[in-house]
Amino acid sequence: MLNDESHPSLSAAAAAASALLPVAVLGAGPVGLAAVANLVRRGMPFVLLEAAETVGASLLEFGHVRLFSPWRYNVDPTMAEMLGRDGWTAPPEDELPLAREIVDRVLRPFAALADIAPFVKLQTKVIAISREGFDKVKSEGRAEAPFVIHAVERGAPIELRARAVIDATGTWQKPNPLGASGPWLSEKQPQRRRSSMASRTS
Ligand SMILES: Cc1cc2nc3c(=O)[nH]c(=O)nc-3n(C[C@H](O)[C@H](O)[C@H](O)COP(=O)(O)OP(=O)(O)OC[C@H]3O[C@@H](n4cnc5c(N)ncnc54)[C@H](O)[C@@H]3O)c2cc1C
Repeated sequence: MLNDESHPSLSAAAAAASALLPVAVLGAGPVGLAAVANLVRRGMPFVLLEAAETVGASLLEFGHVRLFSPWRYNVDPTMAEMLGRDGWTAPPEDELPLAREIVDRVLRPFAALADIAPFVKLQTKVIAISREGFDKVKSEGRAEAPFVIHAVERGAPIELRARAVIDATGTWQKPNPLGASGPWLSEKQPQRRRSSMASRTS
């Protein structure tokens, strides 16, 4: 059976093919979109995968909350520069935005830019990431193999190849357990209460 060790050229070919693939950014929150802006600045192709129907979905869950960081800490400079070319006006640096204002005034206009919108896949939830042709017991050549991203797009399973993956899925939907020693079954009850409180206040 052929492997990368006996045929080093296979590995070089795989690396060259992988370099042509986009970078996959997972999650269209403030961090994922700032990553996208910086990829565009470097001329690197990307695809942005977002589980929700909109960018900034986590922020919208507590959209009514006034943040403790003023605007100047909430707008990535590269995003601001790209938006500025499109006639966007920056919000007042020292004011404290509501969480939903970040989405309305920055994230949505940015995601709608002509350089960005065609590469944003909404309602696409990533469920697993692997390396093409590599199961868990193979390691030789793994670093050169493209990533395979398994996702569910509007209910249908899809697979995408990527040269690199930036995980910007945040912590909002994956909070740390309260207990210092890990998950604690009784946390499920307060978690349910938190979700119903959030839906009552939004
Ligand atoms: C009440 C409150 C107030 C806050 N105030 C401040 C503040 O004043 N200043 C401050 O700096 N921070 C504040 N934060 C924290 C701030 O909201 C987070 O730091 C910020 O949202 C993190 O951005 P992110 O892009 O990493 O993650 P998120 O905003 O959580 O974005 C992650 C995105 O990934 C998507 N996603 C998740 N899983 C998947 C998947 N499997 N596949 C595809 N997409 C996926 C989600 O739908 C979401 O859109 C506050 C948080 C809360 C709760």
